[in-house]
Amino acid sequence: MKFIKSLTVAVCAAAFLLSTSGAMAESCCVKAKAGGKDCSHKCCVAARAEKKVCDKCQADASCCDKAIAAAKACAHPCCVAATKDKKVCEKCNPKKKDDKKA
Ligand SMILES: [Zn+2]
Ligand SMILES: [Zn+2]
Ligand SMILES: [Zn+2]
Ligand SMILES: [Zn+2]
Repeated sequence: MKFIKSLTVAVCAAAFLLSTSGAMAESCCVKAKAGGKDCSHKCCVAARAEKKVCDKCQADASCCDKAIAAAKACAHPCCVAATKDKKVCEKCNPKKKDDKKA
Protein backbone atom coordinates (compact mmCIF):
# COMPACT_ATOMS: atom_id res chain seq x y z
CA MET A 1 0.00 0.00 0.00
CA LYS A 2 2.90 2.29 0.73
CA PHE A 3 4.01 1.97 -2.86
CA ILE A 4 0.61 2.93 -4.24
CA LYS A 5 0.45 5.91 -1.96
CA SER A 6 3.81 7.28 -3.06
CA LEU A 7 2.88 6.62 -6.66
CA THR A 8 -0.27 8.66 -6.23
CA VAL A 9 1.75 11.48 -4.74
CA ALA A 10 4.17 11.34 -7.64
CA VAL A 11 1.37 11.44 -10.18
CA CYS A 12 -0.25 14.35 -8.41
CA ALA A 13 3.03 16.21 -8.29
CA ALA A 14 3.58 15.61 -11.98
CA ALA A 15 0.09 16.81 -12.80
CA PHE A 16 0.64 19.87 -10.68
CA LEU A 17 3.93 20.64 -12.38
CA LEU A 18 2.35 20.15 -15.78
CA SER A 19 -0.49 22.51 -15.02
CA THR A 20 1.73 25.25 -13.66
CA SER A 21 4.80 25.05 -15.87
CA GLY A 22 2.83 24.93 -19.10
CA ALA A 23 1.85 28.23 -20.61
CA MET A 24 -1.78 29.20 -20.70
CA ALA A 25 -4.01 26.77 -22.50
CA GLU A 26 -5.66 29.47 -24.52
CA SER A 27 -4.93 33.03 -25.43
CA CYS A 28 -6.40 35.88 -23.44
CA CYS A 29 -8.52 36.71 -26.47
CA VAL A 30 -10.03 33.25 -26.83
CA LYS A 31 -10.71 33.24 -23.13
CA ALA A 32 -12.39 36.63 -23.27
CA LYS A 33 -14.46 35.50 -26.24
CA ALA A 34 -15.62 32.45 -24.32
CA GLY A 35 -16.89 34.82 -21.67
CA GLY A 36 -18.77 36.79 -24.31
CA LYS A 37 -16.30 39.66 -24.22
CA ASP A 38 -13.52 41.05 -26.32
CA CYS A 39 -10.04 40.96 -24.90
CA SER A 40 -9.21 44.33 -23.43
CA HIS A 41 -5.43 44.11 -23.70
CA LYS A 42 -4.20 47.14 -25.58
CA CYS A 43 -2.05 45.01 -27.84
CA CYS A 44 -4.98 42.76 -28.68
CA VAL A 45 -7.40 45.62 -29.29
CA ALA A 46 -4.89 47.16 -31.68
CA ALA A 47 -4.37 43.84 -33.45
CA ARG A 48 -8.11 43.29 -33.82
CA ALA A 49 -8.53 46.76 -35.27
CA GLU A 50 -6.22 45.63 -38.05
CA LYS A 51 -7.95 42.26 -38.32
CA LYS A 52 -4.81 40.55 -37.18
CA VAL A 53 -3.97 38.23 -34.35
CA CYS A 54 -1.96 39.74 -31.54
CA ASP A 55 1.67 38.79 -32.08
CA LYS A 56 2.27 38.89 -28.38
CA CYS A 57 -0.72 37.03 -27.01
CA GLN A 58 -1.80 34.96 -29.98
CA ALA A 59 1.58 33.98 -31.34
CA ASP A 60 0.41 30.39 -31.59
CA ALA A 61 -2.91 31.33 -33.11
CA SER A 62 -5.59 28.67 -33.03
CA CYS A 63 -8.61 28.53 -35.31
CA CYS A 64 -10.45 30.55 -32.67
CA ASP A 65 -7.73 33.20 -32.49
CA LYS A 66 -7.90 33.58 -36.25
CA ALA A 67 -11.68 33.81 -36.17
CA ILE A 68 -11.47 36.54 -33.55
CA ALA A 69 -9.01 38.41 -35.74
CA ALA A 70 -11.51 38.22 -38.59
CA ALA A 71 -14.25 39.43 -36.21
CA LYS A 72 -16.06 36.13 -36.54
CA ALA A 73 -16.90 33.23 -34.33
CA CYS A 74 -14.97 30.06 -35.05
CA ALA A 75 -17.15 27.75 -37.11
CA HIS A 76 -15.71 24.46 -35.91
CA PRO A 77 -18.52 22.41 -34.35
CA CYS A 78 -16.30 21.65 -31.37
CA CYS A 79 -15.56 25.33 -30.84
CA VAL A 80 -19.18 26.36 -31.33
CA ALA A 81 -20.23 23.80 -28.73
CA ALA A 82 -17.55 25.00 -26.32
CA THR A 83 -18.56 28.62 -26.80
CA LYS A 84 -22.16 27.75 -26.04
CA ASP A 85 -20.97 26.44 -22.69
CA LYS A 86 -18.95 29.61 -22.22
CA LYS A 87 -15.84 27.51 -22.44
CA VAL A 88 -12.77 27.41 -24.60
CA CYS A 89 -12.46 24.49 -26.99
CA GLU A 90 -9.66 22.45 -25.48
CA LYS A 91 -9.17 20.46 -28.63
CA CYS A 92 -8.26 23.47 -30.74
CA ASN A 93 -6.67 25.51 -27.95
CA PRO A 94 -4.45 22.93 -26.31
CA LYS A 95 -2.03 23.59 -23.53
CA LYS A 96 1.18 24.95 -24.90
CA LYS A 97 4.50 23.73 -23.72
CA ASP A 98 7.16 26.22 -22.89
CA ASP A 99 9.90 24.16 -24.48
CA LYS A 100 8.16 23.99 -27.83
CA LYS A 101 9.68 27.13 -29.25
CA ALA A 102 13.07 26.88 -27.58
ZN1 LIG B 1 -5.87 39.18 -25.85
ZN1 LIG C 1 -2.21 41.00 -26.95
ZN1 LIG D 1 -11.85 27.18 -33.10
ZN1 LIG E 1 -12.52 23.30 -31.48
